[in-house]
Amino acid sequence: MSSAPILKIDQIDVFYGDFHALWDVSLTISKGDIVSIIGANGAGKSTLMYTIAGQHVPANGTIEFMGDRIDGMGPHLSVGKGIALVPEGRRVFPRLTVYDNLIIGAYTPRARANIDENIKKIHDLFPILAERGNQRSITLSGGEQQMLAIGRALMSEPELLLCDEISLGLAPVVIKSIYKQLEVISQEGLTIVLVEQDVKRSLRFADYAYVMLEGKIALQGKAVELGEDQVKKAYFGM
Ligand code: ATP
Repeated sequence: MSSAPILKIDQIDVFYGDFHALWDVSLTISKGDIVSIIGANGAGKSTLMYTIAGQHVPANGTIEFMGDRIDGMGPHLSVGKGIALVPEGRRVFPRLTVYDNLIIGAYTPRARANIDENIKKIHDLFPILAERGNQRSITLSGGEQQMLAIGRALMSEPELLLCDEISLGLAPVVIKSIYKQLEVISQEGLTIVLVEQDVKRSLRFADYAYVMLEGKIALQGKAVELGEDQVKKAYFGM
């Protein structure tokens, strides 16, 4: 890891009613890093992402973002502080145009002041969103919707971008082009956390990776130092 931590999670537990979904989870993310959270279905990856985004409150433990406690803050305040989530399944507003979906992302005061500049940046990143600006989002392909979901999240000018299963159901060529653009924004200093089921892609793309198993961190390390076999063993609890 390179520089000071932007996000520090210390021993959090998260419950859904009586169900214990995250167990004593700790992780530290450095500014500008790309971090992958890998794990099988039901391992707790989305729960972790939504907890960072303020949508679940940990029963124990703390979450610090840029030096401030954010656990229990709620999603609106998390966005205001610079955390944006690209949710699993994209969840673009289908009847609104591509342009209006992007505008909806700009709901922090800081972002509202820079709408035109940010739209231009997103159009440079994903030119198809400029071409399709006046089209209803429901008419976009899956890959274009994913680009729109990422663009909408970027409109809030985040410091930390959380991407939940962005490659789900997309063709390899589309996944490749989306990942390439994420690399571009990462080089500009954005910190990115990715949830992925594809171990190979996760390790290739990330600086650091955490493997989750049954709500716990089973393995972690620099992506270049983690072997695919070692990760797969942790992934399956072998
Ligand atoms: P997937 O890859 O399938 O999305 P995941 O690793 O993201 O899985 P989570 O969605 O975080 O896993 O789920 C972790 C556990 O918490 C699962 O056992 C799931 O059934 C449970 N869970 C998730 N959401 C809820 C909820 N709202 N109420 C009760 N249990 C839930």
